[in-house]
Order: sequence, then C-alpha cells, then structure tokens
Amino acid sequence: MIVGGGVIGLCVGYFLARAGRRVLILDRDAEDADNCSTGNAGMVVPSHFVPLAAPGVIGRGLKWLLDPESPFYVRPRMSGELLRWGWLFMRSATCRNVEESAGLLCDLQMRSRALFSEIAAEGDFGLVQRGLLMLCESERTLDEEARLVARAGELGIEAELCDPRRLGELDPDIEMRVAGGVWWGQDCHLDPRKFLGVLRAGIRKNGGEFRYESEVTGVAGTRVALATGEVLEGSHVVLAGGAFTPMLARSLGTCLPMQAGKGYSMTLARPPQLPRLCSLLGEAKVAVTPMGTSLRVAGTMEICGHDRTIDERRVRGIIKAACRVFPRFSEADFEGVPRWAGLRPCSPDGLPYVGPVPGHERLFVASGHAMLGLSLGPVTGELVAALVDGRTPPLPVGRLAVGRF
Ligand SMILES: Cc1cc2nc3c(=O)[nH]c(=O)nc-3n(C[C@H](O)[C@H](O)[C@H](O)COP(=O)(O)OP(=O)(O)OC[C@H]3O[C@@H](n4cnc5c(N)ncnc54)[C@H](O)[C@@H]3O)c2cc1C
Repeated sequence: MIVGGGVIGLCVGYFLARAGRRVLILDRDAEDADNCSTGNAGMVVPSHFVPLAAPGVIGRGLKWLLDPESPFYVRPRMSGELLRWGWLFMRSATCRNVEESAGLLCDLQMRSRALFSEIAAEGDFGLVQRGLLMLCESERTLDEEARLVARAGELGIEAELCDPRRLGELDPDIEMRVAGGVWWGQDCHLDPRKFLGVLRAGIRKNGGEFRYESEVTGVAGTRVALATGEVLEGSHVVLAGGAFTPMLARSLGTCLPMQAGKGYSMTLARPPQLPRLCSLLGEAKVAVTPMGTSLRVAGTMEICGHDRTIDERRVRGIIKAACRVFPRFSEADFEGVPRWAGLRPCSPDGLPYVGPVPGHERLFVASGHAMLGLSLGPVTGELVAALVDGRTPPLPVGRLAVGRF
C-alpha cells in the first residue's frame, strides 16, 4: 500500500508493480487533482548535485527576506517544528555536507535520468534531452557557476561555460539578455502531468489499483486507517504524502523534520517566443520550460506552512525576472494566466528520506525531495522497490535514512 499518488508514490508503485507486487495507491484527492507533482517546472537535473543546505544559502536567504519580490521567504511564526527545522538546516549548510552529498546526488540523478529514458518506452511524456541553460545576468553569478562547472567535471557531469554568442547558437529560437551561462548537457525536460499519466497506465497494466478521494488519517504498522473509518492492511506500507508525510509519520510516533516550500508556476499557451531548451535564471531562481507549444515559468520558495494561497508580489518577481532575461516577453503576456501553487516537501539537509521507519521493517518513507522530486522520482521508485523486496538497493541509501535526525 502506498499513501500518496504524487510523482514519488507513483514511481514507487510503478517499480513495485513492474516487479510483480500487488500495489494499491491511496490518495485523498481525485485522480486529476493538483498536487506538487503536476504544475512543477518539469526539469530532470543531473546539474543539481549541490544540496539545498549549502554554505552561503543562509546569508543570501536573510537578504532576500526583506524583499517582497525575492525568490525566498520564511513566514515568521511560533512553531517548534519550524525552529528545529531551521536549526537542522543551519547545521547542515556546511562545505562538508555539500562535499559528502554531491557524489550521492550525482549518482542518484544519473540513474534517474537513465530510468526516464526507459519509462519513455511506455508512453510519450514529452521527454526532451537537449540540456538546460543556466543563465546569468551578472558576471558575479557567472563566476559562481564557473566554479560549479569545475566540480561537475570531477564528478563526470557535462557542463560548458558559454558566452552570449554560444548561448545563441545553442538556442537560436529565443533572444536572451545575459552576461553568459552554463550549458548542462545531460539535463532534460518533460511534461510532468503527462509523466504521471504514463506511470498510472504502467501501474494499471501490471495489475495495480488506485483508491482516490481516500484520506489516510493514521498508520499503525502495516495497517492504514481511512477518514471513512475503514482500516486496510498491506504486507508493506510506503508513506509518500509529499509535504504532508510528517503528519502520517506522527501517528507512528516518528518525527520527520520537514517544511513545505511553496512555489508558483504559470503556463503561457502562446508565448511570444518558444525556446528549444529549458533554462534557469541564476539570480532570480526562476525556471523556464517549453512544454509542447506552451511555456511554463516557475519559481519562489516560501516556507509558510501548508498555505497554498498566491502572493501576487512574489509572482510579479518571477514575471519581472523572465521579462528582463527574455526581452521579447512583457508583463502583459502574463495577464490573466492562471497561477498555480505547489508545496515542495523540504528536508533540512537537502536529501530525501528513503528507507524504513525505525522499528518498523515493513513500513517505508519516500519523501522530502524538495526541488528535486520529479528528477529523483524514478530512482526513488527503484530504491524503494528493492528495499521492499529485501534486495540490496542499486545505490547506497544510508545517508537517506529516515531516522538520521
Ligand atoms: C514551482 C515548483 C517547481 C518545481 N520544479 C521542479 C523541477 O523542475 N524538477 C524537479 O525535480 N522537481 C521540481 N519541483 C519539486 C517537485 O514538484 C516535488 O519535489 C515533487 O512533486 C514532490 O512529489 P511528492 O510525490 O513527494 O508530493 P506530492 O506531489 O505533493 O504528492 C503527495 C500526494 O500525497 C497525497 N496525500 C498527502 N497526505 C495524504 C493523506 N493523509 N491521505 C492520502 N493522501 C495523502 C496528496 O494528496 C498528494 O497527491 C518543483 C516544485 C515546485 C513547487
């Protein structure tokens, strides 16, 4: 039984069903409802081998707190969980954490990338494997990115430092106003909603079942209680409730440090220009992804509880950055475009939780992927399927342990 039908729950279900397990996925929402996995930027990012908790992030975050249009915000509130998470985040934001996590994140990303290609044989989800452009408006950001390029080389990840002319060669379909950038050749993009559809079809093809509009209110070992009062029992249970996973774990007496990180996206049906490659705007932390003939623009990380309301000032920050870097775009292009919000499940050290709940060998957590949930979905599914089957996982999962805090 898998609690949660976002990209993580579906990837776990897909690999288990493919391995011949009987799978039941429970989700409190309807099948076509929005969760964090539907409106994201659709990027598969081997380039992201530096965890969210890294040196320099806290200083930059404090500066951003004062700017209502900045990409980062923490809503001040009296919450023991938020304080503990903040303390654990600070403790993790060290060179040592970055160094120790980089190799593992790189291996996870590259394995996941390979699995996306494999899953693409099951159905079309718009997978484009042309790389990602990290675009820098200032020389200073470009210098920071150049340092990452050197580290990427040591890890075997393809990256090329580009001047504006080279960027124009790589994506001649869009005008850019930048100091330069980096082409991350192994990154990819896709349509996340279509990807979820392909996973569901794969699960059903292998005999898996779904129960939507079924809220789980408590978990006791391998028994799961629904809001209707019904109790279901499985041989194994996987908790994949995204930003709501800590609530599920709490019923087991397990504390899972996690905060929801809200982000927004807007999808332009008729953009003034359609790039061939996806891009990230280095200063504003805005993601721009072509999806078929439409273009998705996404950004911000707001730590503000489970509130999904839209803060139009931060949306304006995203739009302004996109229009600055792509001069053919204007703020008018975004008028009337629906705003989507999603809650990223953020662990304090930037690594997901993947493994058994301490003291419960048939109960697993797969969550906390923050801004990498789509990218790391397939490898998470593969790892959990191995753990459930009692096999040695294809990559080491010790650093992802559920009880590491
Ligand atoms: C703006 C934005 C852009 C992003 N861009 C990218 C990107 O380009 N690449 C990338 O890799 N990641 C990206 N992410 C992050 C990514 O979207 C998330 O990491 C990922 O979607 C998390 O998936 P999940 O399955 O853990 O959670 P969710 O998608 O939130 O799914 C959890 C599911 O659990 C269900 N659930 C919760 N509690 C219960 C309960 N009690 N009972 C039953 N069901 C329950 C929910 O209804 C939900 O369907 C982005 C996120 C945002 C916000």
